[in-house]
Amino acid sequence: MDNTVQIHLDLREPASQTFWVKQSWKPCSHRLSIQLPVWTPGSYTVRDHVQHLHSLELHSGESQVPLRRSGPSSWRADLSELTTVEVRYAVEARDLTVRTCFLDPTFASLCLAGAVMEVEGCRWQTHQLEISVPDTWEAFVPLQRNNHFWIADDFDALVDSPVHAGPFKIEQFLVKGYTHELLLIGSPPSGWPKNLLSDISAVCEATCRLMDSPPAAGDRYQLVLQMRAEGYGGLEHDHGAVLQFNWHTLAQPDGYRKLLQLVGHEYLHQWNVRRLRPQEYRPYDYSQAIVSESLWFAEGITSYFDLVTTMIAGCSDRKSFLVDLSEELSRVLMTPGREVQSLACSSEEAWVKLYKASPPSRDSQVSYYGLGAATAFCLDVRLRQKQTSLARLVRKLWQTHGVCRRGYNREDVLALVREHDQSLAEDLISWLDQPASLPLQSIVSSLGLRLEAVASKDPYHGLTLKEDSGQMLVRRVAAKSPALKANLVVGDELIAISGRRLRRLNDLPLLLRGQSSVAITYSRHGHLAETLLNPDEGVDRWQLDWDPRATTKQMALRDRWFQIL
Ligand SMILES: [Zn+2]
Repeated sequence: MDNTVQIHLDLREPASQTFWVKQSWKPCSHRLSIQLPVWTPGSYTVRDHVQHLHSLELHSGESQVPLRRSGPSSWRADLSELTTVEVRYAVEARDLTVRTCFLDPTFASLCLAGAVMEVEGCRWQTHQLEISVPDTWEAFVPLQRNNHFWIADDFDALVDSPVHAGPFKIEQFLVKGYTHELLLIGSPPSGWPKNLLSDISAVCEATCRLMDSPPAAGDRYQLVLQMRAEGYGGLEHDHGAVLQFNWHTLAQPDGYRKLLQLVGHEYLHQWNVRRLRPQEYRPYDYSQAIVSESLWFAEGITSYFDLVTTMIAGCSDRKSFLVDLSEELSRVLMTPGREVQSLACSSEEAWVKLYKASPPSRDSQVSYYGLGAATAFCLDVRLRQKQTSLARLVRKLWQTHGVCRRGYNREDVLALVREHDQSLAEDLISWLDQPASLPLQSIVSSLGLRLEAVASKDPYHGLTLKEDSGQMLVRRVAAKSPALKANLVVGDELIAISGRRLRRLNDLPLLLRGQSSVAITYSRHGHLAETLLNPDEGVDRWQLDWDPRATTKQMALRDRWFQIL
């Protein structure tokens, strides 16, 4: 085991919300270089995990060796001899997301991108992980286990392995005969849904049917589901996924379906994005932001298919699918930024925009998740017209680029589309590069469906407000909105509408109702001023519905589309 990098995580002081890391290896060069990843794969923004690291030391034998910082997250040292060295440091773990580290006396949830150092020259060597936990805890890691150690084939496999620890029991379920594990952390107030395990298993099986493949992770897949009072998120891994869901959403009528869709989404990622990966991420560069225009394929197509896996699994029906697709399309259509940012740009700018979004972002940005799903929908329907499907295209790309772990790019996707429809390939280029170019209405109508705006009962003003210590502050002024025409800006404090003091957020629609023009008193930079706002008719959302006048041809296409596979 001479070239193995040994890692020890010490979680035995959970109340400190800090854990200690020791990493040792036998160097092969007198110049030593180490760095902590600056981002977490699957979450495309620079997080500077190093902000949580302290007390870093390097030891060689009995002596401490000075480390020189070569960048915010990297260090160097000169070694006089090539004997085993050890770095030691502490990591503060107070950030409970799927992409960061958290530790408290209840449990630990660690994303190792924020915890382990990449050692220059050792990336492709075996990494051996040991974890010390409090007496009543057990640790869970989706890696092969060898007595007290977990074995990662290389640094990438280590970083990709989430660590969970606590007084938990793990459950097993089967997918196509392959053993999977389910780790439940927390619980809803009324307990877990009684069919949870079998429904999760059915959604995973449905995803395998979609991909026409056994589980890509084989017999080693660990699904971690954290049930919380708030929060929502998921992060995919080669051999599992970490999900955060909240019980308020679960209690909604469609909450359980949303939970199963999140499971399906992350499960599909074991193919799409983990093994079938945009070429820019083969291999990952953990030291900096790496731009890719293909995130729409990784996330948008996965988001489209996650709406249907519950249907394939028999956990939902066509009607629910249309409701969910309506929501997805509605979000896109209600985002003015879709007229500004193209789908390819949205992917490329993830690092600086999607993950740093604020309320005004909606006017200049569109999410590659939502627009990507809408694009996947259009692609799927157009491919159906050529007697094929998006699922078949993804399966083919999986065979040509996923199984053998070649990265794919735009040309690879276009080439597969061209095999069936030259003009669709041309259209896809404009859908990727031209903002607001998706022909949603004509695609919907080709299925004998209608996509219609649902009028809002409240007048439209275009303001997003936030109540802050009794002040009604403007957080967003929507593009082309009445509020923009009234010259209101972000940061203004709204004082009164037509002479009536504005005390609560809910008062705004009430004071605008039935008015064609109102005087708004506001404060800007400490000065009071007044402006006129002319409310408009608003759109609440967009909704898909059956078209009673659908032709036989349209209904036939719709039936083929509903087959999905
Ligand atoms: Zn995803």
